[in-house]
Amino acid sequence: MNLYHFTLSTSKENLFNITSMVNDALSASGIKNGIVTIFCPHTTAGITINENADPSVVRDFLLGMKEAFPDRAEFRHIEGNSHAHLKASCVGASETVIAENGKLLLGTWQGIYFCEFDGPRTRSFYVKIMGE
Ligand code: ZN
Repeated sequence: MNLYHFTLSTSKENLFNITSMVNDALSASGIKNGIVTIFCPHTTAGITINENADPSVVRDFLLGMKEAFPDRAEFRHIEGNSHAHLKASCVGASETVIAENGKLLLGTWQGIYFCEFDGPRTRSFYVKIMGE
């Protein structure tokens, strides 16, 4: 009940602003006041909330993550994407947002992002809404 599933076609490594999709789910639920959980069921992708105004923030975010979690020769994971697993755990698999009067209680500069760290792939995420 009030569970919504979305799919995305991603590029190699990027942040996708999914705020409008989460808003669509909230509208469809008819719930005005409650809790919205956005969950990513993947191990090399995640969900985060960050600035939605200046596109340079996304670019700098990805640059910073690349420097924080470089692809290292010492990694043993056979799939060769350990850096992506590290980034995914760093941002986390979910975010929670309060819904108030039918709107997401996000700050002016906040957007909800699906973070792809090992694309391109077909990805999905869930939105679960609880409230009244
Ligand atoms: Zn892997």
